[in-house]
Amino acid sequence: MVPQGGRTGLVGGAITDPDSLICDLGALDRIEEIDPVTGVAVVQAGVTLSALQEAARAFGLDPAIDLAARGSATVGGLISTNAGGIMAFRAGVMRHRVLGLEVVLPDGSIFCDLTRVMKTSAGYDLKHLFIGAEGTLGIATRAVIKLEPLVPARATALVGVDNAAAAQRVVQYFLSRGGMSLRAAEIMWRRYAQTTSAALGFDHDQLPLGANCLLALEVGGDTFEAASAALESGLAEIYDEDGLKDGVVASSMQQADRIWRVREDTEILYRLHPQAPSFDVSVPGGAIDGYVERLGPTLKAIDPQLDPYIFGHLADGNLHIVLNVQGPLPTPVQQRVEDVLYAPLGELGGCFSAEHGIGLKKRAAFERYADPVKQTLSRAVKGLLDPKGLLNPGKVVDPF
Ligand SMILES: Cc1cc2nc3c(=O)[nH]c(=O)nc-3n(C[C@H](O)[C@H](O)[C@H](O)COP(=O)(O)OP(=O)(O)OC[C@H]3O[C@@H](n4cnc5c(N)ncnc54)[C@H](O)[C@@H]3O)c2cc1C
Repeated sequence: MVPQGGRTGLVGGAITDPDSLICDLGALDRIEEIDPVTGVAVVQAGVTLSALQEAARAFGLDPAIDLAARGSATVGGLISTNAGGIMAFRAGVMRHRVLGLEVVLPDGSIFCDLTRVMKTSAGYDLKHLFIGAEGTLGIATRAVIKLEPLVPARATALVGVDNAAAAQRVVQYFLSRGGMSLRAAEIMWRRYAQTTSAALGFDHDQLPLGANCLLALEVGGDTFEAASAALESGLAEIYDEDGLKDGVVASSMQQADRIWRVREDTEILYRLHPQAPSFDVSVPGGAIDGYVERLGPTLKAIDPQLDPYIFGHLADGNLHIVLNVQGPLPTPVQQRVEDVLYAPLGELGGCFSAEHGIGLKKRAAFERYADPVKQTLSRAVKGLLDPKGLLNPGKVVDPF
């Protein structure tokens, strides 16, 4: 039985074969309650992220999780992949947004922990077993999601920088500035930004495309004008800093949305390179530039035409890497590429899967790069909860 939400997952966790029974959670689409006093939403698993965002907005609240697949991705899918997204550096990943969870277990019993409070210290906090389990341990049916005050207006800027270190200095500056709420800090290396902006019809002189990296910043404020003014004055203050190049501040919400498409319209890459091999890694902030610099020559040593597109969630060190070739790669080549991308991460303190999960696509990487004791425990947990391997077989781990 394969649970499916919006089927936007990027590691094949919701893929079926002809023998699968699909458990489509789409009908569980009710927002049961928004409690503005406690600041929580009680929602069924099939509610889309955008529906939850909209419902919360009516109460001046926000789920504080956001990603480009918001229109289709469901609460159940977000929980099951422990999704992160644009605001994770401020508000945490899905694990930090879930206060309570109801899950149907493979034996038909129902795990019910619909607490609405942040503090529970009552033994093992078992809901966390199901968060990020990709539907292999149970089917999430309802959740209590923590909400945050809504930021009424947003302003966006795109700044050219030399490297991730320079971008991080900009981020630190905005984080430390009182009265300003930085909501997003996304980075794109030049090849990615040039490719998506050209496909979206931007002229070369409209964006700071000459820089090695582009940093997309979003700050919140009471009005669009106030947020834009704060963003502009902040950028003016640090403009002369080392590593900060050209920049543009969106003059309207429409322009801001257009700028955001440069970062979010990743589909452009897959139209150019069908099924392009893609990777989602976490790298500690101070190690990002060294990691990226190493990638070019080591990938070229595998195949001289490899020249990756790199972009991601700078402020939490989550990089997305897409190769400029049609996929899938032959298995030995895929393995060599994974070695280049994943092998340094353990020592650096990063992770070979940042926010997309393991699913089918990263099974081999899980076996090669996850801690062996973690693998053994994971199989034991799977065997305990789902000894017959009924739920999402073949994904993440097999039971003992
Ligand atoms: C354009 C785009 C941008 C994205 N950006 C981000 C991003 O910034 N950050 C990020 O973290 N992710 C991102 N993602 C991927 C992200 O994992 C998914 O968007 C989302 O978390 C999955 O939700 P879904 O409802 O589509 O789940 P599905 O794809 O349907 O399923 C995903 C997994 O969860 C399981 N599952 C689904 N529902 C349930 C349930 N109710 N109970 C148990 N298991 C269930 C499935 O079996 C599968 O293993 C992006 C995807 C796209 C297409």
